[in-house]
Amino acid sequence: MKEKIIDERKIRDILAETKNPSSRTILKILKKAREKKGLELKDAGSLVNFNQPELKKKLFAAAGWVKNEIYGERLVFFAPLYLSDYCVNDCEYCNFHLANKQLRRKRLTLKEIGEQTAILINMGHKRILLECGEDPQHNDIDYVVRAIKKIYSVKTDKGSIRRINVNIAATSVSDYRKLKKANIGTYQLFQETYHRPTYARLHRGPKADYERQITAHSRAFAAGLDDLGIGVLFGLYDWRFEVLALISHAQYLDKVYKVGPHTISVPRFQNAPSVTFKSQYPVSDDDFLKLIAILRIVVPYTGIIISTRENPQIRKKAFQIGVSQASAASCVTIGGYGSKDSQPQFKIHDNRRLEEVVKTALSDGFLPSFCTACYRRDRTGGKFMEFSKHGEIHKFCRVNAILTFAEYLEDFSSNDLREQGKACLEFYLKKIEDLPLRQETQKRLGEISNGKRDLYF
Ligand code: SAM
Ligand code: SF4
Repeated sequence: MKEKIIDERKIRDILAETKNPSSRTILKILKKAREKKGLELKDAGSLVNFNQPELKKKLFAAAGWVKNEIYGERLVFFAPLYLSDYCVNDCEYCNFHLANKQLRRKRLTLKEIGEQTAILINMGHKRILLECGEDPQHNDIDYVVRAIKKIYSVKTDKGSIRRINVNIAATSVSDYRKLKKANIGTYQLFQETYHRPTYARLHRGPKADYERQITAHSRAFAAGLDDLGIGVLFGLYDWRFEVLALISHAQYLDKVYKVGPHTISVPRFQNAPSVTFKSQYPVSDDDFLKLIAILRIVVPYTGIIISTRENPQIRKKAFQIGVSQASAASCVTIGGYGSKDSQPQFKIHDNRRLEEVVKTALSDGFLPSFCTACYRRDRTGGKFMEFSKHGEIHKFCRVNAILTFAEYLEDFSSNDLREQGKACLEFYLKKIEDLPLRQETQKRLGEISNGKRDLYF
């Protein structure tokens, strides 16, 4: 019999069995987490079910430790680029839903895509997440591929976009092959909710097909895409169930394809202009941070992504306990960079400029990174996991963060930030234990200050 991706009954049973776990159980799990080998679904059940505040502090400490061990101090920044809000689906939570007849739909032309890309490059971004609604007439896969080619082709005196991750609707193997050929980074698709009755209630249109959504990553694998991202839109259903389902999905991909997900995204439902949906399962800030910490220790080798849906205070805490990638200075409207006149997909809560985000990250002890090296060096899928499981990825992440942040400081920063940033580079350079690697990094830093760009390991 074909293995189920998500076994809802098993998840329910675990959630019931692990109710009110003892402090001893939780401490044992947290000790095991520090072995960095990941945890069982049942452990995750105990973690979502405990409530003792002193244990939560210990969970955060363990998650912060695991994050640092695997990913180090670097924090990768990116921005979304929305191509089109044409959509044939009626997702109740989204402003782009078909029922929104007030929305003057817009699809960017290639010229406009070029202009938006140039703005993003001139802000300092090197990687973007391409987004659009599902509409085979207006935004078919060939349009998306043309957009990708256009984005990669744009060069300004500040450089170019070096990695395009893609978040578009579930599609066929042949469409995924086209994305693979277009040289994308990670393909991300969120299940939104793993709870079937909730999924059925909130979706209409082709996306209402739960099976199409949950099997999409398998089709993407079949097409040769091996850097895949999963996610849940928190607030649609009980977060405890969703966390166990996300973990089951990650474990399924790991077991069947020998490659776990490259990233897990944790969007939380936000109000949106035409959306009347009211969450019956709102996730509090406390629970939100807790679930990030749990994901961090249960699937330690998977990057966690947070967006500007969250405010700066939450993001700051999330960076400390597990998040390794964050969008910054984002615009969630079509053609919204450099303009103010279209409608956002949802409300965002971090409106800071990239420089401000970078500055705060620095003050909090992080090393800002604009790295895009792995997929360009063929460290994707299984190869990436091999590196990360042997603790090697940390090594690459640090040096590539140093080089890309040095570029950022040269090309974009104010004097004030430059000073703070250079001190950070010095600090982390000294932390490179491998002496030849440190010397090579130092040499390349010299080349960057002499105008050379796009150096990576
Ligand atoms: N249209 C494609 C899809 O639905 O898979 C591409 C992604 S859509 C542009 C990006 C994501 O935004 C969705 O997967 C959903 O999780 C999220 N989203 C939609 N409405 C939201 C809201 N009101 N608040 C927060 N996130 C939302
Ligand atoms: Fe369309 Fe995606 Fe919004 Fe659903 S979430 S309405 S599929 S853009």
